[in-house]
Amino acid sequence: MSATEPHRRLEGRIVIATHNPGKLEEMRGLLAPYGVDAVSAGELGLPEPEETGLTFAENARIKAISAAEASGLPAFADDSGLCVEALGGAPGLLTARWAGPEKDFMAAMTRVETELRKANAELPELRRAYFISALCLAWPDGHVEDFEGVVEGTLVWPPRGPAGFGYDPMFQPDGYDRTFGEMTGAEKHGLPPLGRGLSHRARAFIALATASLGANFD
Ligand code: IMP
Repeated sequence: MSATEPHRRLEGRIVIATHNPGKLEEMRGLLAPYGVDAVSAGELGLPEPEETGLTFAENARIKAISAAEASGLPAFADDSGLCVEALGGAPGLLTARWAGPEKDFMAAMTRVETELRKANAELPELRRAYFISALCLAWPDGHVEDFEGVVEGTLVWPPRGPAGFGYDPMFQPDGYDRTFGEMTGAEKHGLPPLGRGLSHRARAFIALATASLGANFD
């Protein structure tokens, strides 16, 4: 999309380009207040494309474009991950893979901690990290819109809190003394009208809703 082209309004029926039931529920919930009727790529039996992009945004695009082309409907996809400064941005695109086939996130967090210790990153200021969420909307005629949200913070050890998922218990967002694992979902996302967006996914979604769903959070 060029800088001068207006955003395209998302309406009617769309495909959510995920085969992950957790993500599907979360995305459906985000879109529901805007009257968007969402069906999933899994429910339509669409193929899962290979995520060969070199960035989060590229992977979100690959998923959204593939679902839009296969279904003939506008499609919504996301890609997200954790980037740790002292580890040169790792695990980055490999964030999900660090949890292995068993999806063992305690093992994934332990790996992050082991690598941080190898890098002598013990002081909080050496343990900076951010979560990133790239969202993409793709239409069957080739029109594409991209949105991104980031939340910066510090990695703590040991992990704290039973809430959330993935790397939440070791991530303490800037300005808070609790990890995402110690926050309710409402606090972690900080969605309007209660907040102005805290999690990377909420921040990316607010940008999308403002541009493509006619939302006004002023
Ligand atoms: P994706 O499914 O390819 O987007 O992979 C995202 C990876 O990043 C998963 O392994 C998640 O556990 C991790 N991740 C993404 N968002 C969050 C979050 O909000 N909290 C904790 N982990 C997250």
